[in-house]
Amino acid sequence: MVLIAVLTARCTGVNSLRGERVFFWDRGIRLAGANLAMDFQRPQACAFVSHAHADHFAKHQLALCTPETATLYLYRLATNRAGGRKLPKATPKVWTPEQIDDKHRVKKTPYLEPIDWGGLRLTAYPAGHCLGSAMLYVENPQLGKTLLYTGDFKLGASRTSREIVIPHADILIMESTFGLPQHRLPPRDAVIADLLQKVRQVLTRHETPVLYAYSLGKSQEVTRILLDDGLTIRQHPAIFEISRIYEHHGVALGIQSGETLPLIPEQPVENGCVVILPPFHSWKSQANQVRFAVTGWAIESGASYRFGVEESLPLSDHADYDDLIQMVRQVSPEITYCTHGPLAFVDELNSLGFPARPASRPWQQRLFF
Ligand SMILES: [Zn+2]
Repeated sequence: MVLIAVLTARCTGVNSLRGERVFFWDRGIRLAGANLAMDFQRPQACAFVSHAHADHFAKHQLALCTPETATLYLYRLATNRAGGRKLPKATPKVWTPEQIDDKHRVKKTPYLEPIDWGGLRLTAYPAGHCLGSAMLYVENPQLGKTLLYTGDFKLGASRTSREIVIPHADILIMESTFGLPQHRLPPRDAVIADLLQKVRQVLTRHETPVLYAYSLGKSQEVTRILLDDGLTIRQHPAIFEISRIYEHHGVALGIQSGETLPLIPEQPVENGCVVILPPFHSWKSQANQVRFAVTGWAIESGASYRFGVEESLPLSDHADYDDLIQMVRQVSPEITYCTHGPLAFVDELNSLGFPARPASRPWQQRLFF
C-alpha cells in the first residue's frame, strides 16, 4: 500500500495534463481521444495489433498494424490457428499468402512512416520481437506529450526480424515479462554456439534433434541459425506455413532453396535433418529423438523437466531484466507503466530513480491520466 501511494503521487504529478488523459485503462491500454485499443484480446471497433502472437489480438473490425503483421494476423484469423494452439493433425492443404481471406479490415502502417489518426500522430517503430512486431509511438499535439507503447520487444539484432529502433517519449508503456533479476539471459552468441554444438553432437550419433519453439518468431529464427550453419530443416506444417509468410516478406528461410521442407507428421525424417515443432507437440513417428526446448524460460531451474525435454536453451525474443532497464534509460520517460511483469520490477525502477507504476491494476481506471 505504501508503494502504491508513492507511485500514485508521482504519476499524478507527471501526467495530470490539465486534467486530460493521454490513455486510460479499460482492461487493457486504450488511447484517449482516438479510442484506439492496444493489443486487446477481445474484439474492438479499432485496435492496434503490435504483432501476431495470440495474446495480442482478437477479430477486430479494424486492425492497425504493420504490413507484415497484417499478413500474419489475417492468416491466423483465416485459419483459426492462433498461437499454435490449434494445430493440424496432418499436413494441411497448401496455403499461400496470396490466398488470404481479406474480409477483415486492416490499416497497414509501415515502420517509421507517421500517420494521422483521430488527432494523434502515430508511428510504428521496429520492436525486434518477430516479423512485423512494432512499438507504437504516439504524438499528442493537443497535450504536447509523446507516448511509446512497446508491446513485446527485444534489444539487439535478430536474424529474422528488424532490429529495434528506440525513440524518446514522455510516457513509456512497457512489456516487462522478464522483470526479475534472475531473468538475466546469457549472451545470445553463447546460447547460439551451445545450440549448434549440441545439435551437431546429436546428429553425429545418428539421432534426430527435435527443437520445440513457438510457431511464430522463435521457430523461424532457429531455422535461420541452423541454415546458416549448413543444416537442413523439417518444420511442422503449422510452422512451415508461417515461414512461407516470412519468405513472402523477404526473410529467406530455405524454402525456395529446398533446405527447409514441411514435416510429414506420420513419417520419420531422413538422417541429418533437424526437426522443429511447436511447444509440447508430440511426434512419435521416429525413434532416437533428442528433444530441445528453445525458450527464454529455460533460464529457470528445472526447465527441461517442466518442458519434458532432454535439453533447454535460453534463446529469447523478449528483453531480459537488464534490457528492460536499458530500455527505460534509452526512452528516458517522465513515467513508465509496466505490463505483463512482476510488481517487484516496478519497485526496482522506482528505486533506480525512474518513476514507474503497474499498468494492470483495477484502480487505474480512476487514477490513469
Ligand atoms: Zn509476442
